[in-house]
Amino acid sequence: MVPKRSFQIAINSIPETGRDISLDLGLEWFARWREEDPDLGFSGAQVMGKVHLGKYGRDILVRGHLDGKLDLNCSRCLESFVATLQSDFDLLLVPGPEKVSEEGEELAAPDLDLDFYSGEVVDLEGILKEQIILMLPLKPLCAETCRGLCPLCGANLEREGCRCKAEKSDSPLAALAKLKV
Ligand SMILES: [Zn+2]
Ligand SMILES: [Zn+2]
Repeated sequence: MVPKRSFQIAINSIPETGRDISLDLGLEWFARWREEDPDLGFSGAQVMGKVHLGKYGRDILVRGHLDGKLDLNCSRCLESFVATLQSDFDLLLVPGPEKVSEEGEELAAPDLDLDFYSGEVVDLEGILKEQIILMLPLKPLCAETCRGLCPLCGANLEREGCRCKAEKSDSPLAALAKLKV
């Protein structure tokens, strides 16, 4: 597992040319996160994180790429499935409000997401967690075509087929089913 300290990047360790960091976030790392936050919207996960840290005066530009697999639950059929997700992000870290920038150099970056850091360390763990949350689909689907559950009998239409078909066509359930279509 990636130890906590691997995520703590001392700002004075970032050379003028920037610094590249790769972090292999595996099952154990996600298990630890889950312990801290039981409401996580996914289970088993394996994510590769690559970040480039660039220094602009006191500002730190974090350019990151996440690539991995997470177990999500389909929002239609509720089954667990493995989602392959990727995302790129740019995040500008500026010294916390309590610190005044000593140098005049500034990044004009209206399109960048902005965040604060304090002290002399960048906490990549917090940043990566936030970006992983942002990467999750709002409505996960095991497949674009997933038909989900039958609203009447609750059967998983992908796996078992609908039990309503056995009903007579003039039954109240069948009539209701027609209305829903
Ligand atoms: Zn589904
Ligand atoms: Zn049904």
